[in-house]
Amino acid sequence: MPKKPFQPGRHFLQIPGPTNVPDRILRAMDKPTIDHRGPEFLELARKCLDGIKTIFKTTSDVVIFPASGTGAWEAALVNTLQTGDHVLMVETGHFASLWHKMANKLGIVTEFLDTDWRTGADPLKLEERLAADTSHQIKAVCVVHNETSTGCTSPIAKIRAVMDKLNHPALLMVDTISSLASIDYRHDEWGVDITVAGSQKGLLLPPGLSFNAISQKALDVAKKGGMPRSYWDWEEQIEANKNGAFPYTPATNLLYGLDAAIEMLHEEGLDAVFARHDRHAKATRNAVQAWGLEVLCQNPENYSSSLTAVLLPDGHDADAFRKIVLTNFNMSLGNGLSKLAGKVFRIGHLGDFNDLMLLGTLSGVEMGLSLAGIPFQRGGVETAMQTLSKS
Ligand SMILES: *Cc1c(COP(=O)(O)O)cnc(C)c1O
Repeated sequence: MPKKPFQPGRHFLQIPGPTNVPDRILRAMDKPTIDHRGPEFLELARKCLDGIKTIFKTTSDVVIFPASGTGAWEAALVNTLQTGDHVLMVETGHFASLWHKMANKLGIVTEFLDTDWRTGADPLKLEERLAADTSHQIKAVCVVHNETSTGCTSPIAKIRAVMDKLNHPALLMVDTISSLASIDYRHDEWGVDITVAGSQKGLLLPPGLSFNAISQKALDVAKKGGMPRSYWDWEEQIEANKNGAFPYTPATNLLYGLDAAIEMLHEEGLDAVFARHDRHAKATRNAVQAWGLEVLCQNPENYSSSLTAVLLPDGHDADAFRKIVLTNFNMSLGNGLSKLAGKVFRIGHLGDFNDLMLLGTLSGVEMGLSLAGIPFQRGGVETAMQTLSKS
């Protein structure tokens, strides 16, 4: 391997997760690991377990697993469903497809409503399917709130409204791994039964923690049923959590970080956090339009505020473009996943982020387009500056 050339300055990590971890959180985690059964830890854990509820906007239990987001997907399924149970999922993109694949591996019978990967879940299509399920065979509806592979969000409150209108008893499970603490989300108000989240995107932390916020209804279902499970068992977690303990060794130092992240999100104010993400997403879309390129998401109601996926013109390889940006400007952009491989690149604008970081990011994209010989019009960064100045 040739020696990597020295690159001054800091790396721009503009993939839609993991995101840039703020110094304040790095400093908060930079501590000796403590006894996870001692009084200092129990106090830290209780503070995190209570604090995180305010981010999900719930008064129900939230459990924290030392795991990636994928673990929390599995926990949601195995605590509430049995082999042979039917679930309805929506193929919004790559991440919804992975959750679907996991459910199949667990022996769950899945039905997968398709989309063209350029919109979110359509509540009308869900309504049609749920209305036909008069025998209530469908035990759960699973939706990804923000599909990180496409930059499309799905209207969770509207999906809940459809289920309520039909009096359908299925559990509503929502993946918020790339939306929690970036895009408005309300576990209780929207009547979600299980919310799945991870630490490394809007929550400002390194990878390694994942979460389930759990409604009373989901807890009741889990008490009576679910699959054989051990590591992912909610009941053991909730019992141990009562005094701040965990059934196995928790990710102590990540919890120091979580405590600081919750504090930072409230210092800024959740509404201000969401408004900041909306504003950066709008400036990014305006830049893409000025370049004469296409935003992958085609339904403005579904535009994501945490990332923007950009389609390149036919015959231009998005991965070759990303490589040019990385080599020349020390910036990582997100790749196209599965059927979007090579066709799109994704700009992450979530987490610890501000106007000048966005403009630096967009400058790297604009210079990269030029170096890669991709046909585009100059002026995207200028347009983004104007958008930001006006709001
Ligand atoms: C990142 C992501 C996942 C996967 O999370 P891991 O932490 O990689 O297991 C799942 N769903 C969505 C929407 C994501 O953005």
